[in-house]
Amino acid sequence: MLLAMTAKNKKMKGKFQPDKNGYFGQFGGAFIPELLYPNVKELEDNYIQIIESEEFQKEYKSLLKDFVGRPSPLYFAKRLSEKYGAQIYLKREDLNHTGAHKINNTIGQILIAQKLGKTKIIAETGAGQHGVATATVCALMGLECTVFMGEKDIVRQAPNVARMKMLGAKVVPATSGSKTLKDATNEAIRYWIQHPETFYLIGSVVGPHPHPDMVARLQAVISEEMKWQLKEKTGNENPDTIIACVGGGSNAAGAFYHYMDDEEVELIAVEAAGLGVNSGESAATSQLGQVGIIHGSKTILMQDEYGQIVEPYSISAGLDYPGVGPLHAFLFESGRAKFMNATDKEALDAAFELTKIEGIIPALETAHALAVLPKMTLRKDQVIVINLSGRGDKDLETFIKHLEE
Ligand SMILES: *Cc1c(COP(=O)(O)O)cnc(C)c1O
Repeated sequence: MLLAMTAKNKKMKGKFQPDKNGYFGQFGGAFIPELLYPNVKELEDNYIQIIESEEFQKEYKSLLKDFVGRPSPLYFAKRLSEKYGAQIYLKREDLNHTGAHKINNTIGQILIAQKLGKTKIIAETGAGQHGVATATVCALMGLECTVFMGEKDIVRQAPNVARMKMLGAKVVPATSGSKTLKDATNEAIRYWIQHPETFYLIGSVVGPHPHPDMVARLQAVISEEMKWQLKEKTGNENPDTIIACVGGGSNAAGAFYHYMDDEEVELIAVEAAGLGVNSGESAATSQLGQVGIIHGSKTILMQDEYGQIVEPYSISAGLDYPGVGPLHAFLFESGRAKFMNATDKEALDAAFELTKIEGIIPALETAHALAVLPKMTLRKDQVIVINLSGRGDKDLETFIKHLEE
C-alpha cells in the first residue's frame, strides 16, 4: 500500500514538471562550472530511469517502511479543528526516523548514488538536520560522508555535530562569509568541483537541475500517502487546502506534489518573516526577493542592488535560507500556490498552542505552517492538511527561553 510512484510519475507531464532543461517556467536550469558538467550530466541522464526502476522502488519502499517507519500517519487533530472551525489533519512527518521529512530524500539519494557507483558522499547543512539525515544513511550503507557546516552553526548546533560524528561523518567547518548555511553550500560546491567523483547529496529542492526535480520526486511519497489516507478518512482523496512551511521547499514540494495539477486543491506555502517581513530581519523570500541565480539555479532570492545575497534571518534554522527552489518560484509566480508568512513570535505561539491542545511538540519550522491558521477565513467543513515536517526536540532550548512569556 506504500507506493505506486512508477506508474504515476510516468503519467505526470503536468505544468509543474520541469522541461528537458530543468526549467519550471523561467526558473531552474543548471548554472554550473564546466568542471562539474560531466557529473551533473551523468545524474541527469540516469535519475528518472533509476527512480522508476523496479529494483530502486523495491529497495526504497522497503527502507522507507522498515528503517524510516512509513507510512507516516495522517492524524485528525480534533481539538485544533474545534478551535479553528475546520477539519484539520496533520501529516506526521515528525514521526519519521531522525525526526523530520529529510530522511525520505537522503534514503532515495543514497540509493541513487550507489547505483551510479559513488562511494563518497558530501552534503551541506545549516542547523545540522540534513547533515544528520545524510550521516545516518551513509552509516546505513557504509559510505564515506563529509558534511560542510558554517563555523558559527557548528558552535550553535553542537548536539547535531555530535550526532554526525557519532554516525561516522567528517564535519568540515566553512570559515568564509557569515560562516552559516550559504557559506557551507559554497564550500560543498567548491569541494565538489575539486572532487567531481563525489556525490553531492543536496538537502532540499534547490541546486542545479536535476537536483530540484529529483528531491521533489523523492519527497512525493508524502502526498502519495495523503491521497489514500484522506480517501480512507474522508471518502475523498483531495483536501480543500494543504499548508506547508518553506525553507528551500522540499517538505512543501512533497506535500503538494500529487496535487499540483489539481487546481481545486488550494496550496499554501508559508515562509519565515523573522521579526517582520519588512524589518530587515526576515527570510520571506517571495515577498522580498528578485530573480537571480543561487547555488546553480535561476530562482527568486534575497539580494541587494549589486546582486549580493542578503543574509536571511529566522528563529528557525531550517527556514533561514535566502532563496526558494525553482519549483516554488514558479508556484509563486504562476499564482498556483498562495504564499503566506509568519513571524518568530507567531511561530512560537503556534508551537506552544499545538503542544498544549494536541500533545505534539512541533519543530519551529513546522510551527510557521501552523501559525497561519488564525490568519485564514475557514469553513467548518473545510478539509485542511498541514504537513507536520518535524518534531520539536531539537528546538527545546529556544522553547525554554520563551516558556515564561
Ligand atoms: C529542514 C527543515 C525544513 C525546511 O526545509 P524544506 O526543504 O523547505 O522542507 C522544514 N521543517 C523541518 C522540520 C526541517 O528540518
